[in-house]
Amino acid sequence: MNGTAHAAVGAATGFIVANTYTAPPTETALLVGIGVVAGLLPDLDIDGKLRGRITLSHKLFQSVGQLIGILMIFYSMYEGNGTNQYIGLGIGLLLFVFTSFIKQRHMLTLTGIAVIAVGLSLQETWLFLLGIFILIASVVSHRSYTHSLLGVVFVGYIAYRLEMSIGLIGVQNTCLAGYISHLVTDSKFLPFNKRGVKLFLPLSSKEF
Ligand SMILES: [Zn+2]
Repeated sequence: MNGTAHAAVGAATGFIVANTYTAPPTETALLVGIGVVAGLLPDLDIDGKLRGRITLSHKLFQSVGQLIGILMIFYSMYEGNGTNQYIGLGIGLLLFVFTSFIKQRHMLTLTGIAVIAVGLSLQETWLFLLGIFILIASVVSHRSYTHSLLGVVFVGYIAYRLEMSIGLIGVQNTCLAGYISHLVTDSKFLPFNKRGVKLFLPLSSKEF
């Protein structure tokens, strides 16, 4: 499946989760945004070892980076106070502008390192772990670890820390559902997928 389809399924997933919590409009919008990001996250590995598909991967990466930037701006306005709010806003804006102008490979690796640094300086565990995820995704093969149960568990934990941090109920379930929706729509059980996902890496390379 392509990025747009994954994003759409992720958005729908976020909307459904928001509705099960009867979340108010602002929180619903936030959960839909988080669902979109979670639905796109597994394909951050496209930059990894795949050759000759630079345009597509950069478009996807740019969209994810811009979305994370927008969510950060949202998050700072919603959650921050005083100086923190402006630091968060500034970083969100920088990330948005930075990812909008990126043209080269390896930038994903650098972004991962930058997110780790920001997570450390803000002492936000979820952001630090998200940086680790991005860093790993930038070096592994496409449709490998980010498309496995190990990836689901890792992202589930990042989302748990994010939910603790912002105190918005439904974040973890939205992330998990959005992420899992990506693996399901990439699986071999769907007739339009030639390749499946190696769910049990590193224990088994069997595709599902
Ligand atoms: Zn994928």
